[in-house]
Amino acid sequence: MTYQPDVTKFFALALDPIHVGTGGMRLGRVDMSIVREPGTHLPKIPGTSLSGAARTYAAMQEEGKFPGCAGQGGHCGDPHCPICVTFGFAGTQNGSFQGLAQFSDARLLFFPVHSLAGPVWVTCPEALKDLEITTNGPADEQVHVASGVKQSGRLNLGWLMLEVASNNFAPQVTHVPQEILNRSVLVSNKMFGHIVNDNLEVRTSVSIDPQTGAAAEGALFTYEALPRASVLYFEVIVSHPKFYQINGQQPLSSNGGKQKVIQTIQKGLAFFETLGVGGMNTRGMGRLRVLNLSAGGAQ
Ligand SMILES: [Zn+2]
Repeated sequence: MTYQPDVTKFFALALDPIHVGTGGMRLGRVDMSIVREPGTHLPKIPGTSLSGAARTYAAMQEEGKFPGCAGQGGHCGDPHCPICVTFGFAGTQNGSFQGLAQFSDARLLFFPVHSLAGPVWVTCPEALKDLEITTNGPADEQVHVASGVKQSGRLNLGWLMLEVASNNFAPQVTHVPQEILNRSVLVSNKMFGHIVNDNLEVRTSVSIDPQTGAAAEGALFTYEALPRASVLYFEVIVSHPKFYQINGQQPLSSNGGKQKVIQTIQKGLAFFETLGVGGMNTRGMGRLRVLNLSAGGAQ
């Protein structure tokens, strides 16, 4: 029998606009753009951003037991440290370790757009395919709408006007709020990319001079963000500690094993809702509610 690692799908709802930047300035039409997938140009949250934030927040809840383990360096590398075992470590006396949890990128599943019929959430066959939901998309100039979108004839998505080809779109996606599913709109893969990129939030802000606390001269800048109420999903793959050795010991053998890894991930993800992910968290940005966390870390 081949060993299969556990794969958990997580669904998340943006409570604020979310900006996970490329780190580059002045790319394209905004000063600070967000990370996109290479082929589709759809915005995403990189798995490294998710695991980095989860690591920090999980370490905060260990109440100072593993003070150096929260960040990028200074890890303890102890085989019984839930942070280092779960998220990995480097440069310790026990060498380096990849970590038992691997985070995928978070991809867009439902994207909120204004329409004459009120707010709707747009999705496409390619986004749903990753959830093993097979659906034939409409033609590029058409949409399939869910029952809560009371519109016939034509429907605008932002500035774009498309033809309502059917009104029986009913995606079965667990953990996503029913009010979002009821107001969902299926578009073609091609149009999904256009609609998302044309309806990202673009905000203007001002740089603060750290010396004076005042606005730096000429320091207006624009940045883009995923809008509030975007629905994303990502996967976390957890490998079993019994297949690994750190300094001759099975990781977490005396304090919870694999279940401890899952609990540590869930504890970290639980704080996304209050402390956020990505940049500019002090500006009311970045809070992300993971919709299917389970108490006690069970799956
Ligand atoms: Zn550690």
